Amino acid sequence: RKIAVLRERASGETRVSATPETVKKLIALGAALHVESGAGLSASIPDEAYREAGAEVGEAAAVVAGADIVLGVQGPDLALLSGVEPGAWVVAGLDPFGQRARVDAYAQAGLEALAMEFMPRITRAQSMDILSSQSNLAGYKAVILAADTYGRAFPMMMTAAGTISAAKCFVMGVGVAGLQAIATARRLGAQVSATDVRSATKEQILSLGAKPIFVENVAGIEGEGAGGYATEMSEEYQKAQGELVSSHIARQDIVITTALIPGRPAPRLISDAQIASMKPGSVIFDLAAPQGGNVEGTVADEVVEKHGVKIIGLSNTPAHLPADASALFARNLFNFLSAFWDKEAGGPVLDAEIGDAIRLTQGGKVVHERLLG
Ligand code: NAD
Repeated sequence: RKIAVLRERASGETRVSATPETVKKLIALGAALHVESGAGLSASIPDEAYREAGAEVGEAAAVVAGADIVLGVQGPDLALLSGVEPGAWVVAGLDPFGQRARVDAYAQAGLEALAMEFMPRITRAQSMDILSSQSNLAGYKAVILAADTYGRAFPMMMTAAGTISAAKCFVMGVGVAGLQAIATARRLGAQVSATDVRSATKEQILSLGAKPIFVENVAGIEGEGAGGYATEMSEEYQKAQGELVSSHIARQDIVITTALIPGRPAPRLISDAQIASMKPGSVIFDLAAPQGGNVEGTVADEVVEKHGVKIIGLSNTPAHLPADASALFARNLFNFLSAFWDKEAGGPVLDAEIGDAIRLTQGGKVVHERLLG
């Protein structure tokens, strides 16, 4: 099988979908690897390293010509895929809702588009889960960038010139990114608290040495829906949560927001009035910036200052850790392909559970239920 690895074209994208390590492993499975020249440069991987790993390095057209599988971090535009035959796979983070026209184009070209962000959250697919691997790094980077923007130190320091008190850091949304944000802020010495709509996270917060901030005794409190994801909450809950958060937030120095609801705009967690209640010099990092933001006034890739509070959000946080983000993304793709590699077929053959979850297009049509009707 011919596997193509393209250089990412999206602005601000620094990652690459295969590393020399995964190239070697894919070749060991029996695949032929073709990597576009320069694909790994922004992740500090020179062409030479891919060649040494056994890949053929060349220009895009030669790399994709006749490819059976095209790998990407984000989906390549169809224009880049001329020479790819119908039935070939495009395996990437395809942003199916945001890039619907591109998905339709894949369908028309007869390609089989596999959206890695739709990987089910089941135990055997954990090692293939790009959302987890990238959110984990994003949660770390959010705290590092917030700490860098903050005009004070995180840890308590007792010095001859006097004592500096520890920063108070509040993490809103305790999924994969939030857990890593808590751990990172703790490592830097902050006093950390956290909240989520899923009550199961309370124990996780405690186990990381942080303080849970939770709404109690309100209807509709069990914010856990299908697949362990958050659901939208009742009005009563939202009001109670708003009040609790308001009183807490006014005393925080750093707030990291990570709340997402699949297939919906990010929930609004922090209003302008709440920002105004914070101390000047405080910093908010809004990890939901690409999905519309959890914070009123977030502008992706800008530092917005409101009431003396700095609000940061990036359109692509994992891209700010290109080498590690690529290493983990590439392993997710390798783990996926190798788990389904069928020696007799000479390539990957999906089962129904995972195939149906991630397959967007097949046989000239859009086939995914979340994209139909
Ligand atoms: P996510 O990125 O979809 O959301 C981030 C967090 O925001 C979630 O914890 C969510 O509950 C929370 N949130 C949503 N609305 C909120 C609100 N109004 N206020 C406060 N918090 C709010 O979440 P994720 O990181 O993808 O994790 C989702 C779930 O999937 C978790 O239960 C996680 O443990 C689970 N998971 C399972 C696997 C696996 O088994 N393969 C892998 C990764 C994650």
